[in-house]
Amino acid sequence: MTVTRPLTGEPLPLDLLDTTWMEDGARRDMFDTPGALQDWLADRDFPTDAPEAETRTHLTEAREAIRAVLEHRDDGEPRLNAVLAQGMRRLQLVDGKPQTLDVVDDPAALPGWTCAVALLDLLERKPDRIRKCANPNCILWYLDTTRNGSRRWHSMETCGNRAKAKRFQDRHA
Ligand SMILES: [Zn+2]
Repeated sequence: MTVTRPLTGEPLPLDLLDTTWMEDGARRDMFDTPGALQDWLADRDFPTDAPEAETRTHLTEAREAIRAVLEHRDDGEPRLNAVLAQGMRRLQLVDGKPQTLDVVDDPAALPGWTCAVALLDLLERKPDRIRKCANPNCILWYLDTTRNGSRRWHSMETCGNRAKAKRFQDRHA
């Protein structure tokens, strides 16, 4: 079964966050749909042979650690560092070519660990462009790639329009 998410195509750590969203006042989780986790992994070239339940546990922890960091919560850094501690990136020269080899303690931890590593990269390159949708009832995150950094909504059609309608109502109330 395919899951239609409201926002896709963001950089890996934000894409992981966007596997949960609000729908009719309740939090939806893409990974609740049978097979969706394996599809998500395969689409991102992760191996899919690790046990699904363990992979999901690791991935869910990485997701909430990333969220805690981006929301500047006190538990963010320790949680993210705990995820990062599950693996390491080894640098090698093989047949004259530089190579990196990702080594994790448990294969089920690889996707979550990779997302955490990708967050560090994003924080280094574009920390001021990582945004949460300005709709307080929306939990989606995106990288603002507009030239002047003016994007406020995950989608102009949904959250953006809702805000516009609300401003109109407030003004005419
Ligand atoms: Zn939104």
